[in-house]
Amino acid sequence: MSNTTSSSNFLRNIIEEDLAAGTHTRAGLPSVITRFPPEPNGYLHIGHAKSICLNFGLARDYVGRCHLRFDDTNPEQEEQEYVDTIIDSVQWLGFSWQHQEQTHLYYASNYFEQLYAMAEYLIQAGHAYVDSQNAKDMAANRGSFSEAGKNSPYRERSAEESLALFRRMKAGEFADGEHVLRAKIDMASPNMNMRDPAIYRIRHAHHHRTGDTWCIYPMYDYTHPLSDALENITHSICTLEFQDHRPFYDWIIARCAEGGYFQQPVPQQYEFARLNLTYVVTSKRKLRQLVEQGIVNGWDDPRMPTIVGLRRRGYTPESIQLFCERIGVTRSDGWIDMSTLEGCLREDLDPKAPRATAVLRPLQLIIDNLADGVAIECSAPVHPHHPEHGMRTFPLSNTLWIEQEDFMEVPSKGYFRLFPGNKVRLRHGFVVECTGCDKDEQGNVIAVHCNYFPDSQSGTPGSANYKVKGNIHWVSAAHALSAEVRLYDRLFTDPNPDAGGKDFITLLNPNALEVVQAYLEPGMRDALPDARYQFERHGYFVADRVDSVAEKPVFNRITTLKDSWAK
Ligand code: ATP
Ligand code: MG
Repeated sequence: MSNTTSSSNFLRNIIEEDLAAGTHTRAGLPSVITRFPPEPNGYLHIGHAKSICLNFGLARDYVGRCHLRFDDTNPEQEEQEYVDTIIDSVQWLGFSWQHQEQTHLYYASNYFEQLYAMAEYLIQAGHAYVDSQNAKDMAANRGSFSEAGKNSPYRERSAEESLALFRRMKAGEFADGEHVLRAKIDMASPNMNMRDPAIYRIRHAHHHRTGDTWCIYPMYDYTHPLSDALENITHSICTLEFQDHRPFYDWIIARCAEGGYFQQPVPQQYEFARLNLTYVVTSKRKLRQLVEQGIVNGWDDPRMPTIVGLRRRGYTPESIQLFCERIGVTRSDGWIDMSTLEGCLREDLDPKAPRATAVLRPLQLIIDNLADGVAIECSAPVHPHHPEHGMRTFPLSNTLWIEQEDFMEVPSKGYFRLFPGNKVRLRHGFVVECTGCDKDEQGNVIAVHCNYFPDSQSGTPGSANYKVKGNIHWVSAAHALSAEVRLYDRLFTDPNPDAGGKDFITLLNPNALEVVQAYLEPGMRDALPDARYQFERHGYFVADRVDSVAEKPVFNRITTLKDSWAK
């Protein structure tokens, strides 16, 4: 898995140029150090997987390291539950923050002391001031895209006064919002992010790691670059919406480097296009809404594009890595079709998933010329292209389950399966000839009758004497395993459910989950949770990791065999 051939992308070109030029050569440190910096305020989704595969993948391919860093500067939103699931998801995807026996797992909150010290330095050096405007005036004085901002009346207060106020902010002497610490840059800058951005705010809030130690918290735009610099990150990779933040990223690191906090070379920020995937939403806020409104059964509902959802659905880490590699990295936004992700899943599972038989919509087939209690052993390869995986066996008896759609009392044109007078092969079994059917009082077909040809068993010389067009799957009713099968499909019917101001909640696919009581071949009794199979003719399925137990097996459809959404 770690040796997937890597396609070229603009970030690889940048790194290769830096390696050739020795841009980030420093004693005792790798020349490529990246980081994945989630905020622990929700579950990771497929968009995050792109960033994870990119950052950890570059570190792997260029013999560097990648840090997992929690950007935990918003105390109200963040919880340990999210930290735990993020750690679990990154590991499950196949990545590690261990490097040369060291663990590179960090929390921005661990830097609160250092960030505070740098803020005091910035005040003393004249690069920051405490602003005491109220929020309304501060917003009004920020100006707009077409209009320069106005300096705050507090902008020229002395460094001593700002420092004293900042210390009192830290000591808890003020209420939330009474003062903020702002960088002193340029209120007329055409880039709004450079108009004296706030770098510290008062928040009397409990933090999931630092408890009540702090009542002032650093802003994301301040914390992020300085955390990168503290960790000696070389290439700080983020999504395009941060392009306008890059001037401040460079500014704040440069000021602190002047103060002796960092040495050259300092981290460089690069932006790439975020992943937009059709038929899902990839925003933590919108995913949370689906969970909180009970539209799905939790963050790990198999319809969710979260990593825990994809995992429970049956996606493999390899298929997600393949997907992230295949979609590549660009600097222009676009949509990736869901069929690309599903295609990667099929490509990964086809060569490795054992085959099995499942009847999802059962109809009884009675073989009238086979005696009660007789069980004839039949066999089939575990994998058609891998004889080394061996054979599986299952009995045939006189009462079978077949698919309802495999019988028609009056066949339509071109229908080759069971109808009175027609012969079909029971896959890996015998040829049978249909003789009729039984119906209930309403006229519904409740059982189909046939006779079998004892010399027609698959794999025996006699089988060659029978030429039939239809080949249907079956399981023996007395031996089959009854199982709940959850037929999952796409969550939304609209390819872009949240584009252009659409209300995504109104675009849910009502058929995204159908539950059927199915019959599986008896060997499936031994299926362990998370084990994946191809149910022949139906698609790929996984034993549900949460609900499947030996007495009550549950399988999820991961995806169908072919793209049923293609136009
Ligand atoms: P959301 O918008 O879903 O809340 P976020 O960007 O706020 O996501 P973070 O926890 O801040 O979530 O993201 C961690 C990292 O993942 C960031 O570097 C971010 O750029 C990246 N990331 C988030 N969403 C995507 C996406 N759709 N495609 C690629 N990278 C993404
Ligand atoms: Mg974010």
